[in-house]
Amino acid sequence: MKKIGFMGLIFYAIAANGYASESDGIYALKVGQYEVYIMVESERDGNTGILVGADEAVLGRYIPAEGFKHTANAVLIKAPKQNILIDTGTGAGGIIIEKIKKLGVQPENVDAVLLTHLHGDHFGSLQKDGAAVFTKAKVYISAKELEFFTKTNVNQGAVAALAPYGSKVITFEPGELGKKLKEIVPGISPIAAYGHTPGHTLYLLENKKEKLLIVGDLLHIALVQFPVPEISATYDMDQKAAGAVRRQVLDYAAKNKIAIAGMHIVYPGTGSVSAEGSGFKFSPNK
Ligand SMILES: [Zn+2]
Repeated sequence: MKKIGFMGLIFYAIAANGYASESDGIYALKVGQYEVYIMVESERDGNTGILVGADEAVLGRYIPAEGFKHTANAVLIKAPKQNILIDTGTGAGGIIIEKIKKLGVQPENVDAVLLTHLHGDHFGSLQKDGAAVFTKAKVYISAKELEFFTKTNVNQGAVAALAPYGSKVITFEPGELGKKLKEIVPGISPIAAYGHTPGHTLYLLENKKEKLLIVGDLLHIALVQFPVPEISATYDMDQKAAGAVRRQVLDYAAKNKIAIAGMHIVYPGTGSVSAEGSGFKFSPNK
């Protein structure tokens, strides 16, 4: 067991049935008694064309000449009494399902799926041929997000992904950053971080005084958005709000020494945040 310490926090890299390495695309850590697995679904060359308002000077400063990687992750949490997924990837190639099986969890043994938002690269593994993949799971989504993508601005993919879960789709009102939070499953509380989408939600995992904040799509190109949080991506529906909430969340994580994990942060997908200059520095876990 390898001990990883930073800023007063200690995480334990865990064995994960032998499947937890960069080549497996799985990073394992422990938060209290909870085992957390960040699973890479895909990795490709990154494209700064998705950034809004990043000038040559900013790109020259933060983007290495050799380029950078873009990744899509989902998170499996083995809690003492439940198996919980946070987001499910695009579903392409059944990669996320393959990975959770490698980690010893069958799809029918997933108890809860918590969605950060309703974009296709987050709900993609929920259904196959119109049937629920996680046959016994409840699916949690913020009420605002569900309303927007199934009524106001309908995403047919999201409607199809959620349909087989019927009354097992549970909506909630996310809490506010820094305020008293309410758990939706034991140890995990949702927090509003609107901007990327109207109901974009973060999940704070807390057990035995250890914390991990899973930030969904708060960041798309970490290299630029940690130092300059106001630079948004074309994927951010409200780019101004996304920039403001990005700074607010990173500031909170830095001040409170809370590690973060992100769905588009390259392997290991998790690390610590500290203030640096007018922005932030990200130190990935080893
Ligand atoms: Zn995404």
